[in-house]
Amino acid sequence: MNLCDIRTVKNIMEAFGLRFRKEFGQNFLTNPMIVSDIADSASDTAADSILEIGPGIGTLTRELCARYSRVLALEIDRGLIPALSYTLDEFDNVTVVNEDVMKADLPALLTPYFEAGSVSVCANLPYYITTPILMKLLESELPFRYITIMIQSEVADRLTAKAGSGAYGAITAMLNYYGTAERLFTVSAGNFIPPPSVSSAVVRIKLHEQKPYQPKDPEIFRRTVKAAFEQRRKTLPNALSAGFPALSKEQCVAVVSKAGHRPDIRGERLDVAQFVALSDLIAELL
Ligand code: SAM
Repeated sequence: MNLCDIRTVKNIMEAFGLRFRKEFGQNFLTNPMIVSDIADSASDTAADSILEIGPGIGTLTRELCARYSRVLALEIDRGLIPALSYTLDEFDNVTVVNEDVMKADLPALLTPYFEAGSVSVCANLPYYITTPILMKLLESELPFRYITIMIQSEVADRLTAKAGSGAYGAITAMLNYYGTAERLFTVSAGNFIPPPSVSSAVVRIKLHEQKPYQPKDPEIFRRTVKAAFEQRRKTLPNALSAGFPALSKEQCVAVVSKAGHRPDIRGERLDVAQFVALSDLIAELL
């Protein structure tokens, strides 16, 4: 079965009474080389189990099943479930669950997979919800080995941006706290049905086995990063003052200075280590 063949995709969609649902970000891959490259990138060991988010009609899922020990695929669109039973029929190492990843209890769903060995994530993510899904995966603190995702090219730039650059944002700092991101390759809109309005890129995140930075209070670290970027145009003391109403303006200036920065610095210049150091000083005041 060749799910990269557009006629085959259309025939399956018709047979199961399906249409491409824009509200679910349904853009299915049609280039077999790209599907194969993404599946190859998902992990460096065939022993891994793979969590796939949004299998669609199973194009990438089939390649993952062929390469890795087990696959758990979460799909929000109930209509796709019978089609997936048909397209994945030849594989006995896949489980499809009709669930919204944002509502899913990932630790519970993945317990048997982690008990069996290591787990990586691989997905062509729905673009309307890329950042929340990535943050949910990271903040779950589940020990995934790799997270390999196809996302908008612009978001890929943000994930791999250097501190101080225009693309650097809260998501970059948070991602660097959990792991390191590598941009693997760019994928143009013509490789999907229907084509999305933006170009895409595949990014692979290697999660830290031991986090190199240990904030005194991880929640205050998160709030510090959030505050710094929510008021991006403001100086860091002003941004902190908006994000931490319990601190006075003077305390915010003092804490930034104590962390070794000028009072007119903007948050976007700080890397993750500097955010951790700053948040430790804030934690002492709260
Ligand atoms: N994996 C397929 C491929 O590469 O051809 C389809 C990828 S398509 C970009 C995104 C998929 O995610 C769709 O099947 C969509 O229905 C599903 N999806 C969207 N939102 C979701 C959510 N919150 N939870 C689980 N799946 C979701």
